[in-house]
Amino acid sequence: MASSSLSGLNSLRITPLDDDDEEEQEKDKAMEILNEADDDADDDDDEEEEDEGVVLGFVEKPKNPESLLRHFFPSKAGGVPAWLDPVKLPNEKSRTCGICREPLQFLLQIYAPISEIESAFHRTLYVFMCPSMKCLRQDQHEQWKRGEESPCRSVKVFRCQLPRSNPFYSSEPPKHGDRPLTDAATLCCWCGTWKGEKVCSSCKTANYCSEKHQILHWNSGHKAVCCQFISSLEASTSDFGSKKMSAKEKVACKTLYPEFEVIIEEECEYDTEPTGDQSCTTSLVSVHDKSDETFQLLSDKFEGDIDKKSWVSFEERISKAPEQVLRYCRDLKAKPLWPLSSGRPSKEDIPKCKYCKGPLCYEFQIMPQLLYYFKVGNDPDSLDWGTIVIYTCLASCEASLSYKEEFAWVQLYPTGP
Ligand SMILES: [Zn+2]
Ligand SMILES: [Zn+2]
Ligand SMILES: [Zn+2]
Ligand SMILES: [Zn+2]
Repeated sequence: MASSSLSGLNSLRITPLDDDDEEEQEKDKAMEILNEADDDADDDDDEEEEDEGVVLGFVEKPKNPESLLRHFFPSKAGGVPAWLDPVKLPNEKSRTCGICREPLQFLLQIYAPISEIESAFHRTLYVFMCPSMKCLRQDQHEQWKRGEESPCRSVKVFRCQLPRSNPFYSSEPPKHGDRPLTDAATLCCWCGTWKGEKVCSSCKTANYCSEKHQILHWNSGHKAVCCQFISSLEASTSDFGSKKMSAKEKVACKTLYPEFEVIIEEECEYDTEPTGDQSCTTSLVSVHDKSDETFQLLSDKFEGDIDKKSWVSFEERISKAPEQVLRYCRDLKAKPLWPLSSGRPSKEDIPKCKYCKGPLCYEFQIMPQLLYYFKVGNDPDSLDWGTIVIYTCLASCEASLSYKEEFAWVQLYPTGP
């Protein structure tokens, strides 16, 4: 199971349609491992685990921006999401912060197909969050509530999957210069992220996901452009059409996170002791500096030795590749790497799948290094976290929705003395 998603992440792999029937065997094996995992669920103080097959994600400026388009099945961070199903996007309730009700901001997406599951030939996981640290602190209280039907979260994860044969993409691997087979839903012209279901009542060409984004757009210049649209409509209808196109193609807001491609590498490749090769880039050095500083700062805040011990082993593991922004391992035996021992969920804190009621399992985690690349500041109200751990449906089930909500657990660093 691990190896398949791993290779799926490493590169888009199109497997033959007539896969042999190892599926049942795989399922049995999975259940076996799951039961084993059940047995030793109680000893939460995990001894040194040898998580094999962990892959790390790093961000890089894309060499070819085309590769981040949806029909190239990208793993990416920042910018706007590349929606796998470009039509049936998450609804208004799903795409807003459960606390402040504002539209969520795109963090990252990873392409993680599961070759054993026919309906997950293409599979992408999306993570969104509210940029407000106040909401994230509130979110902490929500995530501990068990059995709540619709918890008010400020971090949301969606899973979208498609079989090899689907209306949106060719069943053959994409080639340079390809275009998507179908049109996508009209997006909000402010955030470029969510479906633009509302339209400006005066020009009728600007679409929005929310009233909030309409107001922001209006105040930052649409007020003037909107009137131009109307006068140009009166002057010449044909000219108007071309203007409409260009207005829709760009994203007006300036607060999206900078866009990166997510590059995947196996953690074991970093196992060798650091050599004399210090040819790392300046950005790499500053990431490390920042974490050293954070360490000093945090050490004073930790209550007990357990947290300190946990932090030290976390730091040790991360230091192999300090610029990693995510860790991925879809394996039943895999466990997330927690910076702190306090604030971890117990087995009971992880809900069942909303759709099939089956178990959710750890799939990947997001590291705070991402905030450094996103140029998020260091003041007390800036977004910050220890780690964000994503749990997904073990069966990667089908449901009537295109974007199925999965579960995120956020571990924050302690605040205040
Ligand atoms: Zn919020
Ligand atoms: Zn919007
Ligand atoms: Zn308008
Ligand atoms: Zn499920």
